[in-house]
Amino acid sequence: IADYENGEWGNFRIEPYAPLQLNPANATLHYGQSVFEGMKAYKNDAGETLLFRADANQKRLNESAKRMCIPELPENIFMEGLLQLLKIDSAWIPNRPGYSLYIRPFIFATDDYLGIRPSEKYKFMIFTCPVGHYYSKPVSVKVESKYTRAAEGGTGYAKAAGNYAGSLYPALLAQKEGYDQLLWTDGKSHQHIEESGTMNVMFIINDTLITAPTTTGTILKGITRDSVLTLAREMGVKVEERFLRVAELEDALKSHTLKEAFGTGTAATIAHISKIHISGNDYELPQKDETAFSNRVLKRLDDIKYGKIEDSHNWIIK
Ligand code: PMP
Repeated sequence: IADYENGEWGNFRIEPYAPLQLNPANATLHYGQSVFEGMKAYKNDAGETLLFRADANQKRLNESAKRMCIPELPENIFMEGLLQLLKIDSAWIPNRPGYSLYIRPFIFATDDYLGIRPSEKYKFMIFTCPVGHYYSKPVSVKVESKYTRAAEGGTGYAKAAGNYAGSLYPALLAQKEGYDQLLWTDGKSHQHIEESGTMNVMFIINDTLITAPTTTGTILKGITRDSVLTLAREMGVKVEERFLRVAELEDALKSHTLKEAFGTGTAATIAHISKIHISGNDYELPQKDETAFSNRVLKRLDDIKYGKIEDSHNWIIK
């Protein structure tokens, strides 16, 4: 835990997990100045704790903070706090395949003040939770053509709490129709695939891996996305960072040139997509065997995360 008061971060400490006391006028409750991260630590066969790409999460937390007028947190405070906490909490990572420690760093406003202005006080916290094996049950998705997750000039690239609040209702409607998640489209024309609610999405059409670029500011710069693209290029896969049009996706489904579709994110690493709903039609995708790119890259990433192969990208902190 760290507190921001009088223009600086201080009062660094580790405390047992416990409820917070908040004033009813707490600024976060009313105006939503809150940003967070999601990351994981793993254990190798020797029992050492391996932290995956924490530097990337630290940078993204500060990019999100900047957009929400939250003071940036110095890198050394983030990293030292995290490593100190892991000395205690890594004891909770079960030494069994597929298990890891989910880590949730976050910053939120703590001013007790009604009025629209940036808070003058903030709290940074990290808590962790052991998580079990992710049984990669494929997901069904619906292309969203009415609601918008993120508009250009908005906060879509930030991991800001309010982005998720605004996405709940459309996602709930899709779930009532029987779909697990939405495929968000752009806010202007709804003709371009952006990402899903908790994952970036990738498509393999013929031999080319296509995923939305992060240059419009409407898509979260997923760390798994970046890792998968890096490995894909190394594995000799042709990668195109460009928007896939909804009509193009539908054509690829109709002509069976869509070979694979999957989401990428910290929770699942890779989540296969088994069904896509586009303008009134459901398209099923065949199940993938171990020769599919998505399964090969999942294995490679897991092998890096669990220290089974060389970490040639310096993604692991021990
Ligand atoms: N998009 C959104 C909206 C997300 O919430 C997440 C999860 N953080 C992702 C993409 C995937 O990002 P990452 O690979 O860094 O977990």
